[in-house]
Amino acid sequence: MTPSAELLLVEDDGDLAALLVRVLTPEGYAVTIAHDGQQGLHLALTRAFDVMVVDRGLPAIEGLDLIARLRIKDVSTPILVLSARGATQDKVDGLDAGAEDYLTKPFEVSELLARLRALLRRHQDTAMEVHVPGGRLVLADRVVHLSNGHLVDLSEREAALLAALAMRPKQVFSRGDLLERVFGDAESENVVETYVHYCRRKLGRGVIRTVRGLGYRLGDQ
Ligand code: CA
Repeated sequence: MTPSAELLLVEDDGDLAALLVRVLTPEGYAVTIAHDGQQGLHLALTRAFDVMVVDRGLPAIEGLDLIARLRIKDVSTPILVLSARGATQDKVDGLDAGAEDYLTKPFEVSELLARLRALLRRHQDTAMEVHVPGGRLVLADRVVHLSNGHLVDLSEREAALLAALAMRPKQVFSRGDLLERVFGDAESENVVETYVHYCRRKLGRGVIRTVRGLGYRLGDQ
């Protein structure tokens, strides 16, 4: 069983979606279903997922168009396309649109599960480091390596906040969004401001930008 992973499933076939929830849940995936491309786009832009499974033939926004739009917005969540269209050119188109993997329907559940595990492993390897203004944050030891050679230690929550911003460097996050992603709903939104302050004190005011009326985003590189 893989550790708990948030999975966004974009699939308009209700029976297949229900089947996938049944097989994925016992494997440790928390599955959110979007029934069309528009809903999938909204969810992928506003919530953090570890992996996505995307059908191609979708209402509202077609699957590959959805993936291309997410990549333009710097959403780097690994994506597996699950499609009945299985010609070589279909797979080429899927991978070129920004998907990491492509599986043709009908498929064996065991192969889907193995491919998802492989995607998560690869993504975790690359997600160990994120770029932040002035340097790079190594998540495993919560240290920012500044380009002048200095090291800055962060607390667990400081590192989690900065990493959440740095993984989507162009996205503006509301306080409520950061609260949910980083601190858990039990805290008040003030905790977000407190930790933004801590990060700025350690790394300089420009590390996190305030976007008036909207929230925060990573500072400019
Ligand atoms: Ca479909």
